[in-house]
Amino acid sequence: MPTSTPGRPAVCGERGYLLSDLIPAVLTHNVAGAAEPGDVEQDLRCTLEAHTTGDHHSLVMELPGPDTGAVWTRWTRGHYPTTVTALLDCPSTDPDTAEPCCEFAGHPGAHSYEHRK
Ligand SMILES: [Zn+2]
Ligand SMILES: [Zn+2]
Repeated sequence: MPTSTPGRPAVCGERGYLLSDLIPAVLTHNVAGAAEPGDVEQDLRCTLEAHTTGDHHSLVMELPGPDTGAVWTRWTRGHYPTTVTALLDCPSTDPDTAEPCCEFAGHPGAHSYEHRK
């Protein structure tokens, strides 16, 4: 278990890897057509609040334009991701600094700006 600072949830940080087989699936989500395979993040790191159940999630490609969200993948520990999904951005922002949450809409756990820095 990671050590924790009172009042600040820890980030999961689980590592994963997106196999090249899934890159074409990622690119099909970019309807603007400007993305290249090099725009896809293959070194994954779960950015959710530390969790003991459910899949790990990592952003693999931003989508251009407002309100388009981003492409995410999910995996369970010890397995490679097998699917990618376009998800809208979490609409929440820090009430003090206006920093936007970097997670997807409906994500479990704390918002990214609430995590221990
Ligand atoms: Zn995780
Ligand atoms: Zn959020």
